[in-house]
Amino acid sequence: MNNCIFCKIVSKEVPSSIVYEDEELLAFNDINPIDKVHILIIPKEHIDSLLTCETKHSDVISKMLLLAPKLAKNNGLKGFRTMINTGKEGGQEVFHIHFHMYGGSEHLVKI
Ligand code: AMP
Ligand code: ZN
Repeated sequence: MNNCIFCKIVSKEVPSSIVYEDEELLAFNDINPIDKVHILIIPKEHIDSLLTCETKHSDVISKMLLLAPKLAKNNGLKGFRTMINTGKEGGQEVFHIHFHMYGGSEHLVKI
């Protein structure tokens, strides 16, 4: 049984604040935002993380990345950050690959 929270968001078993959906991708607001705008971009297909990505996933991964600037623009951002936490040691908590797209702070903390 698939017990993945993001798969349940894809199937709408778990409610979320969806901002974009197409055949392959879903984007929704992070439940615990770290910035004024904080959106998660996921593939509908379950992939654990970048560690388990294969060449066959190249197309969907590039679509996820190219969706980020569109969602940023829709949310009034002129610039934004992206983050991909990979593996437990990389701070990943949900093991369904996702890109964080966030921004909107007046004061940007450089890292
Ligand atoms: P990560 O550490 O990259 O795995 O981040 C997981 C992210 O998913 C965190 O920023 C959480 O706030 C977010 N998250 C977890 N559950 C939900 C949910 N049900 N709806 C929206 N965001 C969620
Ligand atoms: Zn999943």
